[in-house]
Amino acid sequence: MWSGCLNVLGLGSGKGKEEGLLSDPQLSKETAKCVFCNPTPEKGFDIVLEEERFIAFRDRDPAAAHHLLAIPREHITNVKSLRGEPGAKLVEELHRFGTRALAKVMHPIDVARSHDNDALGKDLSPASSPETRYGFHIPPFRSVEHLHLHCLALPFRSPYRALKYRVAPGDPNARPPQHKGWSWFVTAVQTIAILRDGGTVKVGAC
Ligand SMILES: [Zn+2]
Ligand SMILES: [Zn+2]
Repeated sequence: MWSGCLNVLGLGSGKGKEEGLLSDPQLSKETAKCVFCNPTPEKGFDIVLEEERFIAFRDRDPAAAHHLLAIPREHITNVKSLRGEPGAKLVEELHRFGTRALAKVMHPIDVARSHDNDALGKDLSPASSPETRYGFHIPPFRSVEHLHLHCLALPFRSPYRALKYRVAPGDPNARPPQHKGWSWFVTAVQTIAILRDGGTVKVGAC
């Protein structure tokens, strides 16, 4: 069984999907032991939203008030393997899907907070809703080897947890311009910008 982004090596049990891309023997071997290929409630996944190409479920070990993982059904190893416009498009769609999934679980909390604010005579605008964060871990950060977008509704449960999801802004004045600073976490928006610029995602500034 998997737990968040740690201690997952060698723990897969599901059968891989047998279609299309997976005729590659190396890839078939990877998906056969991949815990995120074909997630189902029977395997212990708390699924929040399912669509044709994507699926979202709750992280077993949530780092924030709400913490979902949104994944493509297709086995893609990690964010470092994405390239160019096809990669950017995929992340854009996954990000939109993750936003829909998170909104589904966040809604009751937003309503509750609005009531609190109302009672205190404070702002009721949507700006008072919790901060959200969407992004990927970058190897060698140890993680499940199936591309998964972390979808977080803050606050974090502890400062230590927050460290794993630290966003490092890039330096737009660097040559070439950087979309991201040094960090093992990259946001969906940073990823899209890096890929559209012809780059690849790495832990260092890029
Ligand atoms: Zn997989
Ligand atoms: Zn991760």
